[in-house]
Formats: sequence, C-alpha cells, structure tokens
Amino acid sequence: MSVTKELIVVKDLHKNFGDLEVLKGIDQTIHQGEVVSIIGPSGSGKSTFLRCLNLLEKPSSGQIIFEGIDIAAENVDIDTHRKKIGMIFQHFNVFPHLTVLENITITPILELKTPKAQAEKEAIELLKKVGLEDKKDEYPRKLSGGQKQRVAIARALSNNPKVLLSDEATSALDPDATESILKLLRDLNKRLGITIILITHEMSVIKSIANRVAVMENGKVVEEGDVYDIFANPKEEITKKFINSSSALSNITKLIENKTIIPTDSKLVKLTFTRDSVGSATISKISREYNVDVNILLANVDVINADALGGIIASIEGAKENVQRAIDFLHESNVKVEVIHHA
Ligand code: ADP
Ligand code: MG
Repeated sequence: MSVTKELIVVKDLHKNFGDLEVLKGIDQTIHQGEVVSIIGPSGSGKSTFLRCLNLLEKPSSGQIIFEGIDIAAENVDIDTHRKKIGMIFQHFNVFPHLTVLENITITPILELKTPKAQAEKEAIELLKKVGLEDKKDEYPRKLSGGQKQRVAIARALSNNPKVLLSDEATSALDPDATESILKLLRDLNKRLGITIILITHEMSVIKSIANRVAVMENGKVVEEGDVYDIFANPKEEITKKFINSSSALSNITKLIENKTIIPTDSKLVKLTFTRDSVGSATISKISREYNVDVNILLANVDVINADALGGIIASIEGAKENVQRAIDFLHESNVKVEVIHHA
C-alpha cells in the first residue's frame, strides 16, 4: 500500500481532565494506508489520544483535521465523523447475549437496514472478511478470545471506515491468536486500504505490522519515525527501554548481574548491523586485519518490515590501539558500536 495522502493532521492537541493536563500538545500526521503504532508507559495519554481522534473525548484545544475538516472544532457532526472510524479494544466489547450474527446486525449502521434479510446479508459479508462466517449462530461464550476479537473487528468494519483504531486489541490474546489477528489486520490494511492506528506494549506487534512508531511520554510524542529506523537507532531513553525489553540482547545485563558473564580486561560491545551495514564478513575481517580476538557472547536477528536487523554482544580483546582501530573500522562499515564495558 503506498502511503502518500494525508488523512489526519493533528495540530497542537491538548486535553485536560479538570486540572490534569493529559495531552500537552500533540502534532501528528497520519497518511492514508499507514499502520501507525503508539507506544509509551501506562498513563502517558495513549488511550486519551485515540479517544480524541474518535471524539469519544472532546479535545480541550488544538485541531484534528480529518480529510480537510477540523473535527475538534465546535459544531462538528460527531456521528458523520464517527462513521469513518472503527475501534477495537483489549476486552473485545461484544454482546454476550447476542449471537455472532446479531452482534453485527445490531451495529448502528446495519440496524437501520431494511429488510432485515439485507442487514443479515451484509453482516455475513463482514463475517467473511474476518473469517468467521461459520460461527454466525454461536454465542460469544463459545468463542476463543481471538474469535471474539474477530467479531469486534467485523463490527468495527460495518461502517466501512477509513481508519481502524486499536487500543491494545491483542493484549489479552495468546501468541497464536495474536498472530492471526495481526494477519487479519495486515490483510485489511492491504486489501481494503484501511489506515490503522494501534496502541500496543508488545514490540513483536510493532515489528510485524507497523510502518511507523510514535513514542508517547507524559502527554507528548517524544520520538517518532519509521519502525526500522526506531528499532535500529532509538534516541530517547524511554524508546530504548521499550526496544530493549523485546531484545534477547538485553539479557546481557542480567548475565553480568548474575556473574554468569564476568567482564574481564576485554572491551564488551554491542554491535548493531542494519541494512546499511557492510557484509557479514566484518567480524572475521577485524580479527584478521587488526589482530584482535572477537568473542561472540549473544547474537540476535530481528525481522522488521521484512528487513533484517542484527545485534551481537561481543568482547574484543587485543592491544589497545588495535581494539580502537577495529572499532573505527566497524563504524566505517556502518555498524553501530555501543560500549557496554570498558577494558
Ligand atoms: P495510557 O493509555 O497511555 O495508559 P490514558 O490516556 O488512559 O493513558 O490516561 C492518561 C492520564 O489521564 C492518566 O493519568 C489517567 O488517569 C487520566 N485520565 C484518563 N481518562 C480520564 C478521565 N476520563 N478522567 C480523568 N482522568 C483521566
Ligand atoms: Mg491506555
């Protein structure tokens, strides 16, 4: 899906609850067809931001320009706007006393359809889109979490929305169900061109589906960018914390703390190999050309948007000036070098 046209432009968005300032000036441009992921600590304002986009919360000030119209302004027709947006949540929000089909036909848009058979026909089309047509007569209690979330997604699609907002929609699901819901969301994004804005604390979700990440802290977006770039080169402490939480390489800290690995008089480094890094022979090359011993302690490859991002924790041993020359060479080869422990 090519991402070019601006769909939502948020300018200096503020939201207060009484004296509490929860959103402190958010600026964001969301393009048609994008999958944007929002991460950040609990209480940083992520849900409030999403609820403002949906006008479930009224912004205190600022603009939300949706297809050219400022929906944060007074006198906006909220219902017209809401039709362009679907939303899904962690706890599914399906009606337990209604069958799967009834859960769909009761949505505001289908409820008005006549005759009833027409509403049911459209509901079944929606269930087909989420792969649940064979469950149409079941009650939610008979469904798995992933299937309930599919019902919720079908409901959210009933308006034929431009945007799907997801607030931790996979957080209550096991890894298999998470993967199948992500596959469905990817598919809806590709096939129907639906723009997706999703809040998650699962880095694996971001790696598998998002094009862009926005990191929120204390009511502001503190860092944002292309997913690969953010994972390869996080700048803010909070971003590093989130990224490291998902990386096998962060185990090095534990291994050192537990004295499983005892740094000796060698230099301990973290090397990050991005798509711009030169070839895989870099390690053998530095040992050969600079006469240093490179001992790999931990290694990991992430696949982000189908691109590889590699990481290695290694000790580099040798004469001081040789170690430095080896590190300089790594820099020149676009390998990011972070020193964990100095010799
Ligand atoms: P996040 O989704 O990042 O965890 P939220 O947007 O839910 O954060 O909440 C941000 C802050 O706003 C929190 O301090 C929360 O207590 C407060 N808050 C959220 N909704 C309301 C509300 N309706 N009334 C008062 N305070 C609220
Ligand atoms: Mg939240």
